[in-house]
Amino acid sequence: MVVRVVVIGGSFGGLTAASELRRRVSAERAQITLIAKDRRFTFVPSLTWVATGERSLERISFDLAAPLKSQGITFVPAEVTSIDPGRKVVETDAAEYPYDFLVIATGHRSANEAVPGLGPFDGPGHSPMSPREAVELGSAVRRLLERPGPVVIGAAPGASCLGPAYELAFELDHLLRRRRLRHVVPLSFVTPEPFVGHMGMGGAGRIRQLLEGAFEERDIPYQTSAAITRIADGAVEVQGSAPLPSVLSIVIPPLAGVPVVSDTPGLANAKGFVPVDAHFRRGGLDGIYAVGVAVALPPADETPVPVNFPKTGHMTEQMAVVVARDIAARLGGREAFSAPLSARCVMDMGDRGIYMAVDPVRPPRDRIPKVSEGCRWRVVKLGFERAYLWSARHGRRLPTSLGW
Ligand SMILES: Cc1cc2nc3c(=O)[nH]c(=O)nc-3n(C[C@H](O)[C@H](O)[C@H](O)COP(=O)(O)OP(=O)(O)OC[C@H]3O[C@@H](n4cnc5c(N)ncnc54)[C@H](O)[C@@H]3O)c2cc1C
Repeated sequence: MVVRVVVIGGSFGGLTAASELRRRVSAERAQITLIAKDRRFTFVPSLTWVATGERSLERISFDLAAPLKSQGITFVPAEVTSIDPGRKVVETDAAEYPYDFLVIATGHRSANEAVPGLGPFDGPGHSPMSPREAVELGSAVRRLLERPGPVVIGAAPGASCLGPAYELAFELDHLLRRRRLRHVVPLSFVTPEPFVGHMGMGGAGRIRQLLEGAFEERDIPYQTSAAITRIADGAVEVQGSAPLPSVLSIVIPPLAGVPVVSDTPGLANAKGFVPVDAHFRRGGLDGIYAVGVAVALPPADETPVPVNFPKTGHMTEQMAVVVARDIAARLGGREAFSAPLSARCVMDMGDRGIYMAVDPVRPPRDRIPKVSEGCRWRVVKLGFERAYLWSARHGRRLPTSLGW
């Protein structure tokens, strides 16, 4: 019997789950269909470089059709409009897709409603959370270079994707220095984290000291445990302190699940994320898995201002591999598969980078986190982007233990 596996999402989670499953299970055993509303795969970590003008969207994306076809995966470029776990069917505007196994890899919706003024399409704030938003932020950065003024960068209460806020602070600092404009652009950083480098995972080794040093060295004042309450045209309002003047505000929003997931009765939690077990299965719903940002992960600790647990690209791919191995094991009548999540990540700083490796992600940890700073890490990040895009474009999977 041929089982039907439907994967929703064509980014790190969906693509990895589909490719990894195809590698393990033949077309005679499983028909794999990947449905994604975006026809193109975008290398999301490079969106900050789209914002600073270092990359075009074209350069960091590719059409999914050919690489999926080459792997024997059916590609449906369409938006899933409903999931019916009872009938085991997902629907798009054009057709219905019955499944035996469903992998939800739909990522996030930016919950901009959490803070008035979070934007860019709902208010004057900007963020790099999607290709469209990153392009829009790129235009705002170009306007800043023509008409310099104060900039506020940071994250809203409840944010989980904090890395890009730090990257943009350092990348913008570097860009402004190269243009000899930094002296007319005061930069400040505002974060809900209890200390810089908490990252939603309770910190990691020396990352706090490195980031505090980098902010000090680069004249970027920062506020921690800070709750942004409103973003207006000329200022960012922070609870309990004076408004921060800004001609450009870049604020990472809290995230929520996408509507098709949050609107499916009994599938998601109140935020729209899917609770899963160690195999990334949605308990109680037969055959359903979730991976990546779509998954519900509780915060690492209680903080004065809420900060949520990170879900990085490297973690997303590990989740997708666990799911592919678990489905393959079930099809072969073998033991279920699971593995704890670790994370490796390189934070770009414009002229250098910081490498972080945590194992496991959630403290307490078996291993002392590895943290290292230097120009070579920026080179690694650049090389990883190039190698990843080349491999994925050619229907291959790059071992992702190095870069990110
Ligand atoms: C600016 C930025 C920088 C980052 N930098 C790093 C980094 O340096 N290192 C790192 O490890 N992580 C980084 N991350 C995090 C990383 O990008 C995410 O962990 C990763 O993108 C999550 O992958 P995903 O597949 O879960 O979801 P996403 O990448 O969000 O993809 C979701 C997919 O689902 C599809 N989809 C959504 N709804 C539907 C629907 N209804 N029907 C059909 N398809 C649908 C979308 O089209 C898309 O293909 C960064 C994130 C951002 C925003």
